[in-house]
Amino acid sequence: MLKLLPILLALLYGIAMYRFSVWRTKRDLDEKSTELADPSLRRMLERMAKALDVERIRVHIYEISPINGLAAPDGRIFITRGFYERYRAGDVSAEELASVIAHEIGHVAHGHARRRMIDFSGQNALRTALAMVLGRFIPGVGAMIATFLTSLLAARLSRKDEYEADAYASALMMKSGLGTDAQKSLFRKLEKLSGNAGGGTPAWMLSHPKSEERIAAIEANERRWQVEG
Ligand SMILES: [Zn+2]
Repeated sequence: MLKLLPILLALLYGIAMYRFSVWRTKRDLDEKSTELADPSLRRMLERMAKALDVERIRVHIYEISPINGLAAPDGRIFITRGFYERYRAGDVSAEELASVIAHEIGHVAHGHARRRMIDFSGQNALRTALAMVLGRFIPGVGAMIATFLTSLLAARLSRKDEYEADAYASALMMKSGLGTDAQKSLFRKLEKLSGNAGGGTPAWMLSHPKSEERIAAIEANERRWQVEG
């Protein structure tokens, strides 16, 4: 029992830390967001709502500058001010931004945001426990190895989520009559944006798999669905 105590404490610590960060993020989202009101985008959201047979799709603008879209554990969907400004400037089309929203709806529909909450506390605990164990054998680098191993696991899990959300977005865009072109062109665009000097890689890309692989997966789905349909 005494041997298990450090692991139990690590687990509790992981859960507490994650709870705290969820709470802080939620508070931040509440304080710094407004509902998306752009007429062109609203029209597209109406088409998607109709395809999903729901009354309406609510999207919020989160007042931060990095280009990102996110699905909160409570199911709310956010587009950052930075992303919205790209759309306002004409760099990103309404259909392309709609495809990001469709992708985030996919995360919500698959329950990724909620599950990630559990995953993250688990990963935190796993990292802390691993660091403690490894630290005994290889002092100094044990914690680094633990972090590396845990993030490898997290990356695998999130890759799977991203492909699921992409597939959901393709299906939704097709059913709404918006097609998948915007979804694919956005990936190419964001990749270019990240190549610009000083532009920095958009956060939405960093947390996601490679563009060409995602485009290939979307095209494979389209082919499969066309055969089945
Ligand atoms: Zn995603």
